[in-house]
Amino acid sequence: MTPVTRPMNLPQSARLRLVSDRAEAAAPEITLSGVSKTYRTRDGEVPSLRPLDFRINEGEFFVVVGPSGCGKSTLLKLISGLLAPTTGEITVGGEKVTKPHGNVGIVFQNALLLPWRNILANVMLPIDMKRLPRDQHLPRAKGLLKLVGLEGFEKKLPWQLSGGMQQRASICRALVHDPRIMLMDEPFGALDAMTRERMNVELMRIQRETGKTVLLITHSIPEAVFLADRVLVMTERPGAIAAIYDVPLPRPRTLDAMADPVFTDLVQRIRKHFLTQSTLD
Ligand code: ADP
Ligand code: MG
Repeated sequence: MTPVTRPMNLPQSARLRLVSDRAEAAAPEITLSGVSKTYRTRDGEVPSLRPLDFRINEGEFFVVVGPSGCGKSTLLKLISGLLAPTTGEITVGGEKVTKPHGNVGIVFQNALLLPWRNILANVMLPIDMKRLPRDQHLPRAKGLLKLVGLEGFEKKLPWQLSGGMQQRASICRALVHDPRIMLMDEPFGALDAMTRERMNVELMRIQRETGKTVLLITHSIPEAVFLADRVLVMTERPGAIAAIYDVPLPRPRTLDAMADPVFTDLVQRIRKHFLTQSTLD
């Protein structure tokens, strides 16, 4: 048997170089400086995020993994401008985030398609809501549906599609206005394991073909490592950065990557962060 190179055993300098090469090569798309969030409720203050400092590069596939309630969805809402941070500053595409903005498309755990609208009309929903020109975006919506393998399903109603197909339609809806960034909050959590794996492969292909920056939240460590260029590991609430790992697996990746020692070592290493905490969910 030929010995395998285990990047985990590489000298520290070799791995650090991988990280900094990537960081220097690309422009920052999202930056967070000292961003924290404390919810003020009638029962008092709920600190949800400790001050966070990190950046996500243009075209990067960035995955956040952390225990339930650590502030992952809060982080996503802050970046989309739906929530204001308690301290600190966020920029997207070089601009300070002060209110909800059109630079992001969001995908949630459930597809949340409107049951009375057909698939194409669901994908066109953000265009109708933002009152953007329909004739310009209709070909784009159809092109996206083709990209995710839903050509021919435009006129179907959501219930006529499987869970995975509905989630693919919701990815199209998030991309139809051509945002810079796709924010995904546990997008495949409601799917069965096999569909979920297929969706992971599909999502990587969509990201490659659209060149979008993706910020995806998950509490599956294997899913995080499989998808990501970098994985940010969060601590329990109030969430802070426990570590950021570079994933030096080549692309394009297939499911075979999960058998790669680089993959298994990294999954193991990230899992160790949570052994001293309660479970991930
Ligand atoms: P995660 O997505 O990681 O499960 P969330 O970001 O949804 O975590 O929530 C982080 C913490 O903030 C949780 O403890 C939650 O109870 C609290 N929280 C979330 N939203 C609110 C809110 N609107 N008001 C008060 N507390 C909230
Ligand atoms: Mg959440």
